[in-house]
Amino acid sequence: MKIENSTLKKVLKKYREISLLSHIKATLDWDLNVNLPPLGSETRAIQSSYLSEMITNKWLDTKFRSLYEKAVTEKLTTVEEKAIIRNLGYGAKYYYNVPKDIIIEKDKTASEAFIIWRQAREENNYKKFLPSLTKLIDFDKTIARHLGYKDNPYDALLDLYEPELTAAECERLFNGLKKELVPLVKKITKSKDYSNTVSFVGASNHYPTPDQERIVHYIMQHMGFNSQAGRVDISAHPFTTELSRHDIRITTNYKETDFRESFTSTMHETGHALYEQGVNPDYDGTPLASGVSLGIHESLSRFWENMVGKNPIFLHSVSPIFKSFYQKQLHAVDEKSLIQSFNTVQPSLIRINADEVTYSLHIILRFEMENELINGNVQIKDAAEVWREKSKKLLGVASATDAEGILQDVHWAYGSFGYFPSYAMGNLYGAQFLATMKKKVDFDAVLAKGDLLLIKEWLDTNIHQYGSLYFPKELIKKVTGEKLDYTFFLNYLTEKYSRIYNLK
Ligand code: MG
Repeated sequence: MKIENSTLKKVLKKYREISLLSHIKATLDWDLNVNLPPLGSETRAIQSSYLSEMITNKWLDTKFRSLYEKAVTEKLTTVEEKAIIRNLGYGAKYYYNVPKDIIIEKDKTASEAFIIWRQAREENNYKKFLPSLTKLIDFDKTIARHLGYKDNPYDALLDLYEPELTAAECERLFNGLKKELVPLVKKITKSKDYSNTVSFVGASNHYPTPDQERIVHYIMQHMGFNSQAGRVDISAHPFTTELSRHDIRITTNYKETDFRESFTSTMHETGHALYEQGVNPDYDGTPLASGVSLGIHESLSRFWENMVGKNPIFLHSVSPIFKSFYQKQLHAVDEKSLIQSFNTVQPSLIRINADEVTYSLHIILRFEMENELINGNVQIKDAAEVWREKSKKLLGVASATDAEGILQDVHWAYGSFGYFPSYAMGNLYGAQFLATMKKKVDFDAVLAKGDLLLIKEWLDTNIHQYGSLYFPKELIKKVTGEKLDYTFFLNYLTEKYSRIYNLK
């Protein structure tokens, strides 16, 4: 990548320090989740927040800011130069528009709120969380005002997690989606072939960790994960973090009563990892490095987890591996049951346990709640009840307890309003990518042979290499030739589940 503009060169030199500090902080955060002894958490919090403050100060550094502002006014010629300035503006927006005391106050409130939320959830006591939630919503409304918006304050918050996403766009996509998803779920659960019981996992079954580890390493290698430039460890909740393009850390979790989770969640995290490993090396240390957004990242991880990992043809090709490792446990299991067990559709209360079909309904519920709360259309004190009503309408089930309702997710306790929709956007992007890929790649044949490298190569060429060069809207258009459309995802689900459950 050639940078001609001399001001931009200077900005990039300064930006490198932000990039370095962010990766050092990421290393500490990875260690916190993988290795930290319980008594280490207090000092780690101090170390981490010290680095956060250093990063904030680098963004606010007057020399850096004036160089950035000068570069904005200059004539930039290449796509890369323009994207660098756009990304710097996007990254700096929060720091330059929101007063520093508000950022610090919100962070403090959120740390306290997290502890209160945890207690409230344990005690199933929404009222206890109410004052914190009220404060955090107020903070986010203030932050939205400082960031600026055209129609809806929620737009300013959505944009922080998924560039250029608006509430109106979410409504367009989600309303179309829910109209068809709700009846599809009913159709599946009422079908003759439907079953939600799996006989070969659970308390009386045993799948030793060493066997699962070997399968996990096998699948990562087959997906094209570069083990010289990353590693897999264990943590309570699987995640991926990028410490540099040559050091991508993923984690998994082994449950000895169920072999499926480590397999599919490792495919998910490896999907994140392949994106980071595949970015153009020229972008290292610049604002073009790394994946462009949460939504695009999630589209790739879910693509591998659901569209590949839980695909019946793929499961057919890997079932001999499962059966050879777990001879005793699976010898009486027929292939149809095995495939269905990976694709059980079950409307449930808890988002993180949701299947591929009902998952987006959990997100739509949260999007609607956030949009109404931020705009004051729902009173915060009534929110737990509104949650129940929406859950009943969308999923057909509602929890008697708030612990399994409005208190189930940590996101609001962090004050992260606007985060949830990016998960559902990932499903939509992924299905549209898949439809495009299928025009060039004989997807079913590739899965039947287990030749996953061909899929990785397509993703490298069409998506991974660009890193943060294109914002999601532009990327979708570039890759698929059209703007985002929810019907790709609906068609994908309908086709897949019609086959699995013999729907008419
Ligand atoms: Mg993920």
